[in-house]
Amino acid sequence: MALKYDDVVEKYEPTLGLEVHVELNTNTKMFCGCSTEFGAEPNTQTCPVCLGLPGSLPVVNEVAIESAIKIGLALNCSIAPFSRFARKNYFYPDMPKDYQISQYDEPICVNGFLDVEIDTDEGVKTFRVEIERVHMEEDTGKSLHVGGATGRIHGAEYSLLDYNRAGIPLMEIVTKMVPGTGKYAPQVARAYVTELRDILRSLGVSDVKMEQGSLRCDANVSLSPMGSGILGTRSETKNVNSLRSVERAIHGEMIRQANLLQNGERIIQETRHFLEESGETRPGRSKETAEDYRYFQEPDLVPVAPDASWIEEIRSTLPERPSVRRKRLQAEWAVPDKEMTAMINAELLDTVEATVKLGADPTKARTWWLGEISRVANEKEVEATSLMNPDQVAEIILLVASGELTDKLARQVVEGVINGEGTPREVIEKRGLKVVSDDSALMAAIEGAIASQPETADRVRGGNIPAAGALIGAVMKATGGQADAARVRELLLKHLGQE
Ligand code: ZN
Ligand code: MN
Repeated sequence: MALKYDDVVEKYEPTLGLEVHVELNTNTKMFCGCSTEFGAEPNTQTCPVCLGLPGSLPVVNEVAIESAIKIGLALNCSIAPFSRFARKNYFYPDMPKDYQISQYDEPICVNGFLDVEIDTDEGVKTFRVEIERVHMEEDTGKSLHVGGATGRIHGAEYSLLDYNRAGIPLMEIVTKMVPGTGKYAPQVARAYVTELRDILRSLGVSDVKMEQGSLRCDANVSLSPMGSGILGTRSETKNVNSLRSVERAIHGEMIRQANLLQNGERIIQETRHFLEESGETRPGRSKETAEDYRYFQEPDLVPVAPDASWIEEIRSTLPERPSVRRKRLQAEWAVPDKEMTAMINAELLDTVEATVKLGADPTKARTWWLGEISRVANEKEVEATSLMNPDQVAEIILLVASGELTDKLARQVVEGVINGEGTPREVIEKRGLKVVSDDSALMAAIEGAIASQPETADRVRGGNIPAAGALIGAVMKATGGQADAARVRELLLKHLGQE
């Protein structure tokens, strides 16, 4: 009988390993002056250096070194006072030089860690993911396989190559083996990549778009029989391209491996590809025999030897850690845990913060973004931030605070702005959504309410103040929600002799 996930984690202990490649957002490539702009015509952003033409010489991009140091410091790594580039030789058409300039035994950053928090059965628990190294290299070009059914090389009639991406600065961030995550292994993997992405974004070194491939994760996992201490053979799921897929890939691999082991079969050391539809993986390249990349020191580049003072200068400019920032904002805004998680999962934290910075009340800002605006966004299957911006939301919240709008009218203004009727002010003008606080207009509505509910009015006259609620409700209804409710209450009670 096939083992289910619950059985798997009772019998086996997973060990994780995560490799993340992140493209830097430098203006130019790692070793030449070519543009790194995304989406240009194929092969328009190339030169003799990134095409590997004979006689061309690479020069290191200083901004890329600075970004690498930032990343290393943010991940608690030591920065090597001296590191070198190496040639990683392999023959594949996406690398025009037939080697990739990378770092091998002398990476720029080593021995760091990143703590991630997971919701467990026993509450929130912190898992430490140790980082082995961060090294610098260059991205490869892109192949497009044409004519086949699957878009893969097998069955294709021909292949096209685009070298615009070849030579874009790439950082490879490699963890040590991560033991002890047990049944939480898939969540730890996801939380690690999420936290890493947030840190990279806060550093401003990459646009970290997993779907565009500027952040790619290779997820390794192996299983060992519970308590045996014997490390199993690992598989490596390549280029997983969303946070959710990282979690699903580890989950799926754990089940697949456990069922093989259960049947007495062995795990083959190989790369695997994640299948979005089924959440399963299928085999790629076998890694049974270690590939020989014939690494050797890159003779065309000088070593990287950053000054200690430069490193300290960079350290002093590091932004607040995202996890620290989240805790600070949660305390400042007095947000319950559940709502905070909802805001983070909806990726609306920055947006709510921007709205609050414009003077809006934090609770109101959160409620609008996660409530009405997110609801419409889900309906339309778009991002909430594509419907409205923090300026508009803050303006509406401030208009409610100053009494110019009621909550009910504010909802109509939001609807109008989303429908493209203009700015909040324009929607208010066009739809005539001003709060009515003009006493004579309100008095007319109050008299109407009293006339339609004379008995209620008598009860209020007799001292039953709570009964006034029904009359105020009638006035609000008659004015389409535009009446200033506090003023209505005041005028009504006065009129009925109950000041
Ligand atoms: Zn170039
Ligand atoms: Mn690499």
